[in-house]
Amino acid sequence: MHQILVSLGALLRKSFSYFIEAIAPSNCAVCGKLPKPVCVGCANGLFEEALFESRQILGINIHYAFAYRGGPRELILALKQHGETEVARLLALVLQPLLTREVGVADTVIVAIPPTATSMRRRGFWPMQLVLRQAGLPVRNLLKWSRKVKAQHNLPRAARRQNRQGALTAKPAVAGRNVVLVDDVVTTGATVIEARRAISEAGGEVVAVVALALAAKINYPHFESIDETLKELR
Ligand SMILES: [Zn+2]
Repeated sequence: MHQILVSLGALLRKSFSYFIEAIAPSNCAVCGKLPKPVCVGCANGLFEEALFESRQILGINIHYAFAYRGGPRELILALKQHGETEVARLLALVLQPLLTREVGVADTVIVAIPPTATSMRRRGFWPMQLVLRQAGLPVRNLLKWSRKVKAQHNLPRAARRQNRQGALTAKPAVAGRNVVLVDDVVTTGATVIEARRAISEAGGEVVAVVALALAAKINYPHFESIDETLKELR
């Protein structure tokens, strides 16, 4: 396993340097210096921070590349909050090998958590759809928000759960399929749990979750915030 991760890191580092050479100079999304979207120094820093870790929560394997802090956080925010769409190509390099590893199973379908209507209006684009397109992997749009939800980041944990519960609907095409669920940042796990509920209600099964980053506020790298969410749900 360690060997695989080491070679994965080497491969990515190579792809990154090709990528960095191919892009037009502007400001680095991490440090604000040249060039864009990420300078060589910051790209190397990102690889030092890359974890490619997995955790299993109630039978769901969650695979993620980064802890949501420092450079990786800046990069994700550059795409999501500042509309730096070039960053999507860079994030795709990280997401692509994580996803490819999960998609070998027959009848597996990649489903991304869709943005809420409010986020879509504000940004005008779907950040993870851009990333997945850049990763060159087929994605099915099989989840939709069936009612309005508030932004999660200002809500306490119990309110987050309530805010998400019953809010997603999976389309009938998900029936009988093994689903690899994709999200940008997993925080309390409330959205992932809601997506799994919706997918299983429509007859599909979430076999893995792939995320760019994990934002566990308490005692990273343990999944305590998700564990607490799950305890509340039992
Ligand atoms: Zn930089």
